[in-house]
Amino acid sequence: MRPITRSTAALPILLACALTLPGPRGATAAAAAPAAAPAPAPASPPFDLLIRNGTVYDGTGAPARRADVGVRGDRIAAVGELAGARAGRTIDATGMAVAPGFINMLSWAPDAFMVDGRSMSDIKQGVTLEIFGEGMSMGPYDEWMKADTRALQGDIKYDITWTTLGGWLDQVTARGVSPNVASFVGATTLREHELRYDDRAPTPAELARMQELARQAMAEGALGIGASLIYAPAFYAKTPELVALARAAGETGGGFVAHIRSEGNRFLEAVDELIGIAREAGVHGEIYHLKAAGEANWPKMAQAIAAIEAARARGISVSANMYTYIAGATGLDAAMPPWVQEGGLDAWVKRLRDPAIRARVLKEMRAPTDAWENLALAAGSPERIRFIGFKSEALKPLTGMTLAQVAAKRGTTPEDTMIDLVIEDHSRVDTAYFLMSEDNVRLGIRQPWVAFGSDAESSAPEGVFLLSSTHPRAYGNFARLLGRYSRDEKLITFEDAVRRLTSLPAQNWKLRDRGCLYAGCFADLVVFDPARIQDHATFDKPQQYATGVRDVFVNGVQVLKDGEHTGARPGRVVRGPGWCGWQTDGCAAAAHPGVPPAPPARSRAR
Ligand SMILES: [Zn+2]
Repeated sequence: MRPITRSTAALPILLACALTLPGPRGATAAAAAPAAAPAPAPASPPFDLLIRNGTVYDGTGAPARRADVGVRGDRIAAVGELAGARAGRTIDATGMAVAPGFINMLSWAPDAFMVDGRSMSDIKQGVTLEIFGEGMSMGPYDEWMKADTRALQGDIKYDITWTTLGGWLDQVTARGVSPNVASFVGATTLREHELRYDDRAPTPAELARMQELARQAMAEGALGIGASLIYAPAFYAKTPELVALARAAGETGGGFVAHIRSEGNRFLEAVDELIGIAREAGVHGEIYHLKAAGEANWPKMAQAIAAIEAARARGISVSANMYTYIAGATGLDAAMPPWVQEGGLDAWVKRLRDPAIRARVLKEMRAPTDAWENLALAAGSPERIRFIGFKSEALKPLTGMTLAQVAAKRGTTPEDTMIDLVIEDHSRVDTAYFLMSEDNVRLGIRQPWVAFGSDAESSAPEGVFLLSSTHPRAYGNFARLLGRYSRDEKLITFEDAVRRLTSLPAQNWKLRDRGCLYAGCFADLVVFDPARIQDHATFDKPQQYATGVRDVFVNGVQVLKDGEHTGARPGRVVRGPGWCGWQTDGCAAAAHPGVPPAPPARSRAR
């Protein structure tokens, strides 16, 4: 059975494109393989698209070189000197960089994509693949979870008409998205499926079912397990539970990525836990948004990097990703002890209304501890905590204010204010915490095994997206890496920045024919001006587009032209290694142990 089939949403566009092409007569072609074929076949058809005279950054980190890029259908057909080649369409990229489309390792775009598939803020930075699933994924659900998820929706509301992660991926691409999409299956989602919000270990039967759900998600194309271990109920999971899930995903090549258990007082122990999970499960492990949170913990960043380097030297496959800012953004749940949140939002709010419990929570919120991750204390002061989104109309005027400002306005202590806001908003309240040092951001960027993720939605400064604010990383994360940190501060070369946005994550997560720029790769391409690429989003005015990206192609279809969105939505599901749709491996290999293992990824067609 093949429960999942690739979305065909892009086909009409490609077909329409092909129909307008000149006939395949007399095409010159340096079109075939890049190195071989000095005398190409005279019948070689013209390219659909030829990007001429650009400076090609091929994603491997190799020195940039002047080259033309020929595209046929959804794939790159040739890279090199293609001066005489015929093409349906030619664009001049003189003075421009041409690179594989960028990969956002940590995207929160699913909600936005349910109402707007254009992915404006990320497309304008050249992002052609959005990867989801930090702890929570869009499936597998059961009816209880669908109702619960629906109740927790904020400004963007939609019905949940699918059940599995693969079901959602098919649905969102069928509705139409501009970039490609991929997802981890959430460890939190799997736990909620079996244990709801309970603070306990799973029974052996529950754990077996969670593993089976993980295997099913892998068969649908998940990249592995995504966890977020500071939040309830994920916080309640002990290490063996995570190893068991990682093992199940690893059976068909999946990995394990996590918001680790602490980025603060127990940062180094949490890095060790992640490395241990990767080692024990025998899978690739990655740390989400690598950072040291809280000034007292800033010196640990170098130690964490040393621990990761040591693990890599021992042959353990470990990497990290990060965003390029000194503030994080999450909710006020990260300022209160996890025990008070057991049972979910309703139970949490109900407990906070009990004066005796409130007194205990206040005390614990103010007491430094290693037992849970208190981001409000890590931020160090109420001036360094800023509200970016409320659910309730009555509270929306507080959007953009700091905790210090709101507390002063109300005449309440900062901790009382946070408790009151959770109760009044009946939500976790979207909040930015200024936690990191600029030096550590730079240190992270310098590590060759660090990829990048926005940890944000991809949206537009219009409509429903204006009902809340956001973190500037939603609009500037990738342009900031290329502009500020690579070009201006010269922390890393452009070649290396592009590699870390493309082939590094593609190899870590076994993304076939993505993140590369040579014949056979999918034609996910970005044409940008290296002298001008720039982020403009700030914490005061976050909803500002980046500039400098001129053209973006996804599966050979132009999505951004001269900096403006074309309206095209050619995005597809990018499937992981366990997908049942792969012809020779994926779940087929797992189901039939007699089949020899496939060669490592890169099954280039033809
Ligand atoms: Zn996180």
